[in-house]
Amino acid sequence: MSITDTISAQTGVDADVRVISHWIDGAARPSQSGRTAPVYNPATGAVQAEVALADQTEIDEAIASAKAGYQVWKGYSIARRQSVLFAFRELLNARKRELAEIITAEHGKVLSDAMGEILRGQEVVELATGFPHLIKGAFSENASTGIDVYSLKQPLGVVGIISPFNFPAMVPMWFFPIAIAAGNAVVLKPSEKDPSAALWLAELWKEAGLPDGVFTVLQGDKLAVDGLLTSPEVASISFVGSTPIAQYIYETASRHGKRVQALGGAKNHMLVLPDADLDLVADQAVNAGYGAAGERCMAISVVLAVEPVADDLIAKIQDRIAKLRIGNGAGVDGVEPDMGPLITGIHRDKVSEYVDIAEADGAKIVVDGRGYTVDGHEDGFFFGPTLIDDIPTTSRAYQEEIFGPVLSIVRVSSYDEGLELINSGQFGNGTAIFTNDGGAARRFQNEVEVGMIGINVPIPVPVAYHSFGGWKQSLFGDAKAYGVHGFDFFTREKAITSRWLDPATRSLSEARGINL
Ligand code: NAD
Repeated sequence: MSITDTISAQTGVDADVRVISHWIDGAARPSQSGRTAPVYNPATGAVQAEVALADQTEIDEAIASAKAGYQVWKGYSIARRQSVLFAFRELLNARKRELAEIITAEHGKVLSDAMGEILRGQEVVELATGFPHLIKGAFSENASTGIDVYSLKQPLGVVGIISPFNFPAMVPMWFFPIAIAAGNAVVLKPSEKDPSAALWLAELWKEAGLPDGVFTVLQGDKLAVDGLLTSPEVASISFVGSTPIAQYIYETASRHGKRVQALGGAKNHMLVLPDADLDLVADQAVNAGYGAAGERCMAISVVLAVEPVADDLIAKIQDRIAKLRIGNGAGVDGVEPDMGPLITGIHRDKVSEYVDIAEADGAKIVVDGRGYTVDGHEDGFFFGPTLIDDIPTTSRAYQEEIFGPVLSIVRVSSYDEGLELINSGQFGNGTAIFTNDGGAARRFQNEVEVGMIGINVPIPVPVAYHSFGGWKQSLFGDAKAYGVHGFDFFTREKAITSRWLDPATRSLSEARGINL
């Protein structure tokens, strides 16, 4: 069966529209709910499919199947679980181009960027293949006379993952390889805007030999999310998305007794000191500001230029913007653009409104991406790269997350003024400093109140064996994604205190005169 056959199933909605299904019990499951949402091709603006939106019956079925899958999977030996993970890694590595094409078709990002997100997810799969090391317990022999104390790390059971549209493969892969390696069963609720990557991954798990029910895809909206948050059968929630929803998820799931990690939005600043190499800074600011059309939680959205560098830097960034090619992420005649469209027309309009707000608040629009169109793709959700100078820090366009290809410049007079701006923001996801002064960089890493810091690196996404997560409104809960945090999150520890009869006397140690 082809991937298209597998990921789609007709429901009664409209015989001509492909309806993207759930994945329950190791198979594509057509929805019976009668509720769907459109899935666009952002490059053309056309609706290419509808995605099923689960109702309560389907939510219950998905969770029940995961519960049954968990009972089977937790009984697999470590060696057997590891062989499934290795098979999954090999299949993913061999066939990732297929997944990249699915991501580009629904998300709109350029193919090389889709491949990039898969590679970052694959890193976590590779980390997870070494899980026996990371879920080993500890043993203390003779903690008291004749008594040993040891700990085990056991899976939680059924775990829920709720993911955003911007990384339909990578973000779920931040969590599920580790959750599955640790012996849990996963119910993934992908973004309804680009739901097919999750189904492709489900099919791959099946091919890798994962028992049915251990990886479930529940398509849906708030109803599906609330079903996971409130079900007593779901032990934990891993969420990534916007801050208001992250906070809602954290509060609701906690209230229902679950372990929660909820990663939220961002507004990442790049602090440029006067001694920095401005060509390097301009290259990196353009990549980090406009790559993936700015729809990255680690995108740079504000450059804090410590004077006197702002004018030079703006000129260099402008030169580079002029060379950016914007178009269909899938490429035309084998030539890939630098930047694709935004995810929906509604989102594009919201980005545009933020530029209006900046302008109304007195900022200077140096490069204006509003109303941008691409020849032959006039209905696509494109927005041109936008550069804003002198944005007032009181403007909502400075303070809030825009999530589009909009880079703002704030001119500051000193390192301290720049640091103060970063630390006074509501978010604390990522930040970067560009300088050749090691002492300044060292001070920055100590003083800045942000979870992930780049030193001459604009998008400091940690490698899989460290952990990913921000501070403040960018992360609710105390567990980051992947790395050691991931293994801690997806296991719970048991401590065992044990004493055995002495084989010589068939009695406890007191028999040898020891009073415990
Ligand atoms: P979103 O918050 O709109 O949606 C995320 C998920 O929550 C989706 O699965 C969606 O179906 C669900 N959801 C949406 N509204 C809901 C509601 N009212 N109740 C319950 N569930 C709801 O986010 P998005 O637009 O898909 O993604 C972009 C956001 O994600 C940005 O804010 C970005 O910064 C953030 N993000 C953060 C990180 C990080 O690591 N901190 C990574 C990627 C994306």
